[in-house]
Amino acid sequence: MFPYLPQEDAVSAPFWAATRERKLVIQYCSTCDQHQWYPRAICISCATENLTWREVSGKGTVDSWTTVHRAPTEGFVPPYVIARVLLSEKVIMLTRLVGIESPACDQAVELSWQELSDGRALPVFG
Ligand SMILES: [Zn+2]
Repeated sequence: MFPYLPQEDAVSAPFWAATRERKLVIQYCSTCDQHQWYPRAICISCATENLTWREVSGKGTVDSWTTVHRAPTEGFVPPYVIARVLLSEKVIMLTRLVGIESPACDQAVELSWQELSDGRALPVFG
């Protein structure tokens, strides 16, 4: 179980609601035909508000990674792997790798979930 409950706001609420059904959704801009992560009020490419939410495949590759050996605060149990995962939708997601101690760049990974105590979940990859 993840030790903390992430805060949600009006912009990120649809993402968190989808995690209750274990669906990974990210924003999609219908003006410039691009996905974006993390949730924002406007498109980072064209600055419009024409954003909708789309469920994504949950497939990606490791872009970069590091192993954390020292807990940043109480509740985290090192060692654990943090990675930039390039989703097949061409969006980078900063996440955690589970079940992979020594990842390699370009290694294929798939979505998994880390449960939160309130029914939501964090998207992780393995
Ligand atoms: Zn756009």
